[in-house]
Amino acid sequence: MTLVYLGLGSNIENRETYLQKALASLAELPRTRLLAQSAVYETAAWGKTDQSDFLNMVCQLETDLSPQELLRSCQNIESRLGRVRHEHWGPRTIDIDILFYGHEIIDEEKLRVPHPYLQNRAFVLVPLSDIAESFIHPLLKKSAADLLKETDQSGVKRFKD
Ligand code: ADP
Ligand code: MG
Repeated sequence: MTLVYLGLGSNIENRETYLQKALASLAELPRTRLLAQSAVYETAAWGKTDQSDFLNMVCQLETDLSPQELLRSCQNIESRLGRVRHEHWGPRTIDIDILFYGHEIIDEEKLRVPHPYLQNRAFVLVPLSDIAESFIHPLLKKSAADLLKETDQSGVKRFKD
């Protein structure tokens, strides 16, 4: 079994429902257990301001799926939920990214782990630190809490609190 952290994001209503459905689907994957989930955070869309605000969270799984099997499973869940109301690709009903797969380092065309941008994204580091503050990034050799300290987290608000 390997400990895995996934980042979930949604910016199409109902955002909470998409997060909850994604978690339920992840919990039902074969050879996998959902162990923990962060609080939900809201991040104002920046840059492309015609996009709705995102809700983001992080969950922790233990799994015997390989990294590639897990990626395929996450993409299946994305497309199942994406098909509920949207035919065309637009803002995300749900995005599921593999942040860490144990301490493995994977550099493949379709799968890079640790997720290459997580250290720049407060909307990932804030929820990650809820459930994994002492987890050490295998390339940067810093904990999630230390990475968070180096990030501007002012745009990330606890949702419904
Ligand atoms: P993004 O998450 O960057 O907004 P997508 O969810 O559309 O974009 O993913 C684009 C591609 O990213 C996927 O086809 C997948 O193969 C690739 N990818 C690379 N590394 C990862 C990872 N760690 N987790 C999820 N997808 C990844
Ligand atoms: Mg993605």
